[in-house]
Amino acid sequence: MQPIFLVDAMLGTLARWLRILGYDAEYTGDIPDSEIVRRARAEGRLILTRDRELAFHRKGVKAIFIRSEDLGEQLAQLRDDLGLSYSVTGARCPECNVPLEPISREKAKTLVPPYVYRTQEEFKQCPKCGRVYWKATHWEKMNSRLLELLR
Ligand SMILES: [Zn+2]
Repeated sequence: MQPIFLVDAMLGTLARWLRILGYDAEYTGDIPDSEIVRRARAEGRLILTRDRELAFHRKGVKAIFIRSEDLGEQLAQLRDDLGLSYSVTGARCPECNVPLEPISREKAKTLVPPYVYRTQEEFKQCPKCGRVYWKATHWEKMNSRLLELLR
């Protein structure tokens, strides 16, 4: 899957979700169209936008117009238009768009609540912001929320 560039203030939530689902999804709020196109071209990114002008009248970069303001409908559109498949993998930090790295239980011990340490086997950490993620609650809750959104 081509890396993605979300460029509309309305698309911040979708960006987080795409990262949770393992996709490389950079996000920016309000910057000039020329800068958006320059970055998309330089990084080979597919632009997702709610701006018709940007989606339909830019030459040389691929862009998709996101039709709905509703998160569930946005995810459904990308599933249908791009064939994205959705499952929560915990591959990427939802805040930073950086791939997560596995860390040992010993290292995790000082970073997570005691109950989590006792009940979980696998931990991952974001090398950029330092947040620690584990499977149980995070990913299961997100998977059921995802199913709700796509219903
Ligand atoms: Zn992070």
